Amino acid sequence: MKWTNKGHEFDAVYQNIEKKDKFYLFGAGEYGEAVYQELEDKLPIAGFIDNNPEKQKENYLGQHVYGLEEIDNENAGIIITVSPYTRKPLIQQLMTSGYVYNQDFFTMEIFMSVYFAYQREELYIPSISFLPSTKCNLNCEACLNFTPYMKEPMVRSWEIVKADVDMFFRCVDYIMLFHISGGEPFLYPHLAQLIEYIGENYRHKVHFLRTVTNGTVLPKKEILEACRKYNVDVTLDDYREAVPASEERFQEIQKLFKEYGIVYEINKVDNWIDLAPMTTDHSDWSELRLQKWFEGCHVPWQELRGEKIYSCNYASYAVVAGFMEEQEDEVFDLKKYDRSRMKELMEFRMGYNEKGYVEFCKRCSGYVDINDHIVSPAKQKERS
Ligand code: SF4
Repeated sequence: MKWTNKGHEFDAVYQNIEKKDKFYLFGAGEYGEAVYQELEDKLPIAGFIDNNPEKQKENYLGQHVYGLEEIDNENAGIIITVSPYTRKPLIQQLMTSGYVYNQDFFTMEIFMSVYFAYQREELYIPSISFLPSTKCNLNCEACLNFTPYMKEPMVRSWEIVKADVDMFFRCVDYIMLFHISGGEPFLYPHLAQLIEYIGENYRHKVHFLRTVTNGTVLPKKEILEACRKYNVDVTLDDYREAVPASEERFQEIQKLFKEYGIVYEINKVDNWIDLAPMTTDHSDWSELRLQKWFEGCHVPWQELRGEKIYSCNYASYAVVAGFMEEQEDEVFDLKKYDRSRMKELMEFRMGYNEKGYVEFCKRCSGYVDINDHIVSPAKQKERS
């Protein structure tokens, strides 16, 4: 969205939050638990809502689990506490039932960010993507990092990575998900050091500290130990269909995770989207059309790099891959941050920026909600 009232974009949303005298969390799962733990001593939580009848039979975290039609909705606010990828039907359900977005119900990202900034004067960030390196052993044709287009991978020094982490946590009071991504993170030589550094200095500010692997690289012992010690969970991408030779390695990795007691989740998907930067051309679109494209894209990720936050992480990857120059008005420079700009930074993280879009939207087919370039996951491309 384009900034029109910087520092005040969420005033009306906060007024709506203030009017509520109780809150329900819609989604009795991992995110519901995270939000509940953060809010239980701050706000009146009236219970959870969940569409799963099995969950409605039992309490969750000591709270009753209701069906939507059962709640006492007088002066009640509903916070959606499921992942951005699965919440669309819930939003439809709420709207069909007469609830109004940002008035009666809120996404957890907006609610937490607005509530913390306005009520507690603290900066809450839902998530950030952090890539210490783009080095990868695979060469996926539709890689969202554009790895096949890079002449050389970006492998950042420990000093630069540490400076990013320190700067980020100088500004941010609390983050739901700090995501160490890549490239293949297990190939980054300082990964264990990075986890230890965050673990020792900032773990209390992070709810989920997570990394990901393509399931083809064995993690070193020190990485496994750091993950165990600092409660890092791992997303294990399952690319065995596209990379059949990785079957044995995939099993070995799981065995190691179990041995070290590391929480992991296998991520197997039927399709990928291709951002298709080499064939997409929106250069003749009007400003308004680009703003609508950006707004409808719902890209949930922003990237931390060079002590700056990038409005869209795919646009940021495009800069690293050499597709385009960095645009000053699409980044929030944390070096220039002070507490008087807290709401501004919160708004930026919620999708506001100077133009209401990013330059790369002119070459990008968009994130899942708007992208119809469907491709097979992890299809490998010959290295040139
Ligand atoms: S269209 Fe592409 S560049 Fe634009 S916001 Fe979405 S993912 Fe980012």
